Amino acid sequence: MPQYKPLTLEEYETLHEQFSRLLSTRTIPVLIPGEAILGIEAIAAGIAAPGRKILNVVTGPYGTLFGQWLERGGAEVFTVESSFDEVITVEAVAAAIEQSKPSVLSFVQAESITGGTNPTRRILELARQAGLITVVDAVSAIGAEPVLMDEWGIDFVTIGAQKGLAGPNGISAVGISDRGWDFLEQNPNAPRNSILSLLDLKRTKEGTPPRIPGSIPALEARALLHALEQVEHEGLENVNKRHRQASFAAVAGIKVLGLEPWQRQEQNGSPLVTTVRLPQDSRLQVEQPIGIVAPGDGALYGHLLRLNHFGENARLDSVEQAVRTLAELLGQDSAQALAAARDTWRAGHDR
Ligand SMILES: *Cc1c(COP(=O)(O)O)cnc(C)c1O
Repeated sequence: MPQYKPLTLEEYETLHEQFSRLLSTRTIPVLIPGEAILGIEAIAAGIAAPGRKILNVVTGPYGTLFGQWLERGGAEVFTVESSFDEVITVEAVAAAIEQSKPSVLSFVQAESITGGTNPTRRILELARQAGLITVVDAVSAIGAEPVLMDEWGIDFVTIGAQKGLAGPNGISAVGISDRGWDFLEQNPNAPRNSILSLLDLKRTKEGTPPRIPGSIPALEARALLHALEQVEHEGLENVNKRHRQASFAAVAGIKVLGLEPWQRQEQNGSPLVTTVRLPQDSRLQVEQPIGIVAPGDGALYGHLLRLNHFGENARLDSVEQAVRTLAELLGQDSAQALAAARDTWRAGHDR
């Protein structure tokens, strides 16, 4: 069967079911025919309105961008920010909620650019106590760590397959709770008849999707179906575990090389990406990626290196290769660092 034939209704619904399972939700996420960033912008466009107070947690560049989109929509945006080598604390979020009295709380679960993971479950607990609508960018969390939409009470969550799920980046998904749909519908400014419209994607009461499957890019959809089948075959928990092991092994390896994680609190390191702090005048300044070792993005260039041990690279041999690369750049022997990475990987999950 030619792969470019329009998507069948069955394939289309299978994709939705896969996304529901990934998010541990009984609701049906909407498919976004583009990169995850499109879904994130669509959420901002759908919820922002003059008079709506939104508390936006900023722990990296994606949070900054989200705040700008909310402001464009006329919302009153309050910001609580961490330095980018630390994640946000639950206390800081609690104080900001108290002060700004928002109706919405938004944040990024895990930051691929800074290598930190926010205390998501506890932040969402606070939000629930305060009755807030919650928005989570879980693009860099899904596959690497749990994202429990219903249990944690997330109203809007964006995911894509291109990070922890080893899939393509051309179709992503937004999970929306019943409360989330109501919140969109109550917003007269929420886009309609637009690529940024989530309301256009809402199913009827009978569950009929508004978009015919044929309008979803078929090649991309089939690649995604395949990638998500692989994830289900391995088991999402096992995929999470592989990412944890990779991050623990990477941290163990870099420490033996005399380096330290960029994240000041080691326990807040993301299972998706380990960021390495660069000493001044370091021999580790690289301009181009070498395997999974990549320079810092944007303003973080020169301050950190990323070890992108995610997706297919959440494997011991990818971490070993990264440790070898760092040792070579430093002019050091890699044997002990490799042994530490291997031992830590085999120990399973403890640093
Ligand atoms: C990668 C990423 C995105 C967006 O991914 P695209 O590939 O641009 O769609 C959004 N948020 C976070 C936290 C990410 O890491």
